[in-house]
Amino acid sequence: MYLILWNAGVLGILIPQVLAMKINYDGDQVLQIIPQHKDHVVCLQHMCSSLQLDLWKPLQPEDINVRSVVHVRIPSMALQPVKEAMLHCSLSFKVLVDNLAHLIGDPEAKRSRMRRSLSDYDYTKYHPMEDIYSWINLMTEQHSDLVTQHNLGLTYETRPMHYLKISKPSSGPKKSIWMDCGIHAREWIAPAFCQWFVKEIVQNHEKDSRIKKILKNIDLYVLPVLNIDGYIYTWTTERLWRKSRSKHENGTCYGVDLNRNFNVKWCSLGSSTNCTSNLYCGESPVSEPETKAVVNFMETIKSELICFLTIHSYSQYILTAYGYSKDLPKNFNETITVASKAASELKKKHGTVYRVGSFANLLYEASGTSQDWVHDLGVQFSYTIELRDNGTYHFILPEDQIQPTCEETMAGVLTIIEYVNDKYFGNQASTKCGSLHIYTFLSAVLTTVLLT
Ligand code: ZN
Repeated sequence: MYLILWNAGVLGILIPQVLAMKINYDGDQVLQIIPQHKDHVVCLQHMCSSLQLDLWKPLQPEDINVRSVVHVRIPSMALQPVKEAMLHCSLSFKVLVDNLAHLIGDPEAKRSRMRRSLSDYDYTKYHPMEDIYSWINLMTEQHSDLVTQHNLGLTYETRPMHYLKISKPSSGPKKSIWMDCGIHAREWIAPAFCQWFVKEIVQNHEKDSRIKKILKNIDLYVLPVLNIDGYIYTWTTERLWRKSRSKHENGTCYGVDLNRNFNVKWCSLGSSTNCTSNLYCGESPVSEPETKAVVNFMETIKSELICFLTIHSYSQYILTAYGYSKDLPKNFNETITVASKAASELKKKHGTVYRVGSFANLLYEASGTSQDWVHDLGVQFSYTIELRDNGTYHFILPEDQIQPTCEETMAGVLTIIEYVNDKYFGNQASTKCGSLHIYTFLSAVLTTVLLT
């Protein structure tokens, strides 16, 4: 949101000053409503569309159903009329968040937490984009034998999209795994996880036999923040912004839901052609520089790409194809077995329960997602992972949950990666180890026999 102030200059001429104004969530509430019958649904749908309310669950009024939970953010100014309207429709509600501003705090106060060195980078805090850029530089400078940075392209506002390649030299042919975080701007835990993931790999690749085994065969590509313009906007102006920041309709509205912009059943289900919508799919498939950059790169690595992971929040789901249909893909059984294994390893860390299933069946129908586009490109293990939480803090996951969330997610993600590694390369570490043991055992027996 911008505010235009007219300032008198030295000659008394009015000079326009455009100031970016921060959205203030003071007094805003998040309400939970469970419509009990059709009239309730209609009333709620009407209220959400006419007041253009920020629906958190489901994402669009059409998807509101009898007896399913609705979470919606009500700006403080609209609270009274909304509550009266609900009374009028005899809808009851529960206040989930009493004052959003208290929950959000002041991200500005957290600015520039970056220190000079990587060793005191705080992975248990959220970081503004400038910190993440410096972190990328430090990471590649200090671990140049393992991590290199590359440019995927430029965002709409012409910022470089750096991704990290984690790779060990190898004589044999290798496969690749991709992971991106932060396609939705307000889902801050996602970029925090991408950074955590890189840190863990870098710190443990020599001592952890599983990571060692994986890196023998696989190059890992990590894009810490996909929607950089949107992420910055959530820090400077609107904490709950979801989309990118491209301009539409002569600058009357902003942003595309980048996870509706891929060329797969584009703009049919769970997306909108209205540029003011949070689910705006863009002017055409892959119209956005950010999605174009991802698509171009996926096409260059597609023959080696064996697994694609895109990290979101919230809901605690591991989702597989499809989003664009409730039908299940041919190899759903294997894909979902791997996801269940990952969810159970994840749960072992802190007891967090994740559900697994197809995107459309568990979350909602959505066309044009990256997960489906990559799946239809031929990558069977293509997952959307919705991190914590389950609906208490939504997109505003408190910082004290960053560490446990990242620890458990690491366990889940490594389970998936190890599975695909073993599927394509065999479980070499243990086979080698196993044959080594048999060899040692046999030679010991032989030596004993020969000596006696
Ligand atoms: Zn998301």
